[in-house]
Amino acid sequence: MTTTQTWSAPGRVNLIGEHTDYNDGFVLPFAIQHRTHVELTPREDGILRVASTFDEDAVEVAIADLDDLFPERRDEVAEWARYPLGVAWALLRASETRPDAVAGADLRFTSEVPVGAGLSSSAAIEGAAATALNETWGLGLDDVALARVGRTAENDAVGAPTGIMDQMASMLGRADAAIFLDCRSLDTKVVDLGFAAAGLELLVMDTGVKHSHATGGYGERRAACERGAAIMGVPALRDLSVDDLPRAAELMDDVTFRRVRHVVTENQRVIDTVRVLHDDGPTAIGDLLVASHASMRDDFEISVPELDTAVEAALEAGAVGARMTGGGFGGAAIALVAHDRLQQVADAVTAAFAASGFGAPTLFTVVPSAGAGRD
Ligand code: ADP
Ligand code: MG
Repeated sequence: MTTTQTWSAPGRVNLIGEHTDYNDGFVLPFAIQHRTHVELTPREDGILRVASTFDEDAVEVAIADLDDLFPERRDEVAEWARYPLGVAWALLRASETRPDAVAGADLRFTSEVPVGAGLSSSAAIEGAAATALNETWGLGLDDVALARVGRTAENDAVGAPTGIMDQMASMLGRADAAIFLDCRSLDTKVVDLGFAAAGLELLVMDTGVKHSHATGGYGERRAACERGAAIMGVPALRDLSVDDLPRAAELMDDVTFRRVRHVVTENQRVIDTVRVLHDDGPTAIGDLLVASHASMRDDFEISVPELDTAVEAALEAGAVGARMTGGGFGGAAIALVAHDRLQQVADAVTAAFAASGFGAPTLFTVVPSAGAGRD
């Protein structure tokens, strides 16, 4: 007899801490209410079959063949299927489990996480697959190990050079809280947000402008950060503080210096946000969000007019704070808004986009929510 069970994992929003992850720094993401669900039915034949409402064609691979498929022959399966199949492959490697020691399975995915809107639908599908297979196969990996599995799948099976923030947020999220993550040690701390108690909403303003991690901009920023760290003689920009910035200004060209200044000040802003949330509550973090946006716009130069317009319009209409979120060059901005101002802010952003001749933004609120688990 086979029994079908369901697991799910959420998307995420990064509250603050942008382009700090690959500099060994700090980030403060939270899991959101939008989730990717997977229904799993065990099979007797050693085959993994993945299906998604996202694509009409299911993909079947023998578990014994996963090691041949990834990473060299990954082009043989549809790109979306590399996420869940890559997770299965990475899970077996991480747990040193032989393919013939685990049973086949049918995995059927459905998702509420919009793709490519900067909410990490990729971490959601990875987290759902990892949690479901880890439990079904009795591998006993913990949440941090499963986050690493998700990153391995995304880096090596899919071929996207991303950090581990998204997977950590999706695995470890808690209701009404963010995850303070040290990207060097992977130490985490649950940080209470208290948005609802303070009468605040978190508005996502998706510009609809497509970004891609593969663009030269991302690689150029990473290279500038590495250059800056090398000039300063430290392993990563994480090892610099704001007190080091005057010396950095003397040692490097203006562009490299401004990239460095963004990362160093952004790390400090993440730490400050955690402290201010604790001491003064969420209404007091607005200035830090605004400063983060200015730093990405002026120093890291990864904003676009649509993101700046969203942030400025939200602030003018009374948002407590606002900033672009995610890797930049498009995607979404967020605004922290008092509940009774939400409509006003949303209307103002929509009007500002229309006035600038931009396509209409997609606006919705997100709620800090629990991480991956059984449905
Ligand atoms: P995002 O910012 O949403 O994470 P990515 O490009 O990192 O954008 O990941 C999106 C990709 O993940 C999709 O193009 C698809 O290949 C895969 N994906 C995400 N969710 C699903 C799903 N529910 N079913 C199938 N594939 C999915
Ligand atoms: Mg992604």
